[in-house]
Amino acid sequence: MQTAPAFSMPIPGHIDPVPVPRALVPRSDGRIDLLGLSKPDLRMALETSQLDPKQAKLRAKQLWHWIYNRGVTDFSLMTDISKTMQPWLEQRFTISRPQVVEAQVSTDGTRKWLLRTDDGNDYEMVFIPDADRGTLCVSSQVGCTLNCRFCHTGTMRLVRNLSPSEIVGQVMLARDALGEWPSQPEGRMLTNIVMMGMGEPLYNFDNVRDGLKIVMDGDGIGLSRRRITLSTSGVVPLMARAGEEISVNLAVSLHAVTNEIRDEIVPINRKYKLEEVLQACADYPGANNARRITFEYVMLKDKNDSDADARELVRLLKLYDLPAKVNLIPFNPWPGAPYECSTPERIKAFSNIVFDAGISAPVRTPRGRDIDAACGQLKTASEKKTRAELDRLAEEKQAALG
Ligand code: SAH
Ligand code: SF4
Repeated sequence: MQTAPAFSMPIPGHIDPVPVPRALVPRSDGRIDLLGLSKPDLRMALETSQLDPKQAKLRAKQLWHWIYNRGVTDFSLMTDISKTMQPWLEQRFTISRPQVVEAQVSTDGTRKWLLRTDDGNDYEMVFIPDADRGTLCVSSQVGCTLNCRFCHTGTMRLVRNLSPSEIVGQVMLARDALGEWPSQPEGRMLTNIVMMGMGEPLYNFDNVRDGLKIVMDGDGIGLSRRRITLSTSGVVPLMARAGEEISVNLAVSLHAVTNEIRDEIVPINRKYKLEEVLQACADYPGANNARRITFEYVMLKDKNDSDADARELVRLLKLYDLPAKVNLIPFNPWPGAPYECSTPERIKAFSNIVFDAGISAPVRTPRGRDIDAACGQLKTASEKKTRAELDRLAEEKQAALG
């Protein structure tokens, strides 16, 4: 069990980023997890264990290669590390993977994993294979503090930031499952990453940045920043920083063209208004016609899907001179959701208006609906139980124990 209070964030409904202290936190067995440490931190971990700086530098380089290029988790397989050094490492360190609770495969080939942190929190990741690419949808938090009304994740009560190790761990696990070691520049199945799983990535800024930096590092996994997309619901003060410090592609969950509707369906809009979000997009470092910003727009029947809405969307994108593409997402229903999906005809009409104005507006095909893996459906099974059910289960367990 890892003692990880440093990453806890039990503040449902709170919508400010919570600073996350960074420290080498040993697990309960006293070992330090090397996965998710930055290159300098990896070297520091070795120095702290009394390796002299020169040795630590060399070993850190070797370890980085074994961990991120070869996918090795067992020190005894690291052939260029001496037979005496291997057990020394084993005693002090570990190279973790998230614990897999359940792995499911959809009829369309989409795969979903239910994962568990060492302190017992569940989260999910999804792999979506396509003809020309394979996209891993990575979670940044257990649950989400924001309560977008159409999103199932937003109804989870418990929220905890995922650590860099747990973020990189998702990519490592997917590559384990796809048999993609050692890291190859060509012919990969996992070609793209989207930070569109559970959570608001910009509310876990440092860990998402540090995790993605490892994923992008050329000596390891080496995934280009052009193949990574971070999706935000519009945390305006952190968007510029994301451009500067992470510099991956940006996707913004716009979903409405007036403050009135956006206040209702994306409540963070009450804090950061539509105009501020669009201005932050216009200012996003690195956005240009070759690297356009994706605007996600969930199609909700009679809520945001009229011709007038489509025309207003075009007007706004032009007004702010945004290099934009629009992703129209048919609403994925979940039990008790307060909305319905727009009709296919309505979605088509909406798409045509945007497209005729010269902006690409594909309709995203829902993937993995049968295993609840589609956008906004991620909510872990353990969280689906109500408080009353959990109390009853606890009572039953207590009674069984006598
Ligand atoms: N929290 C981030 C990223 C995760 S959600 C964000 O909100 O951008 C990824 C995308 O799925 C977002 O655009 C989100 O608004 C959308 N989404 C959420 N619930 C959905 C649902 N039920 N149907 C369709 N899309 C949904
Ligand atoms: Fe959180 Fe994104 Fe869901 Fe909104 S849509 S509740 S920000 S995960």
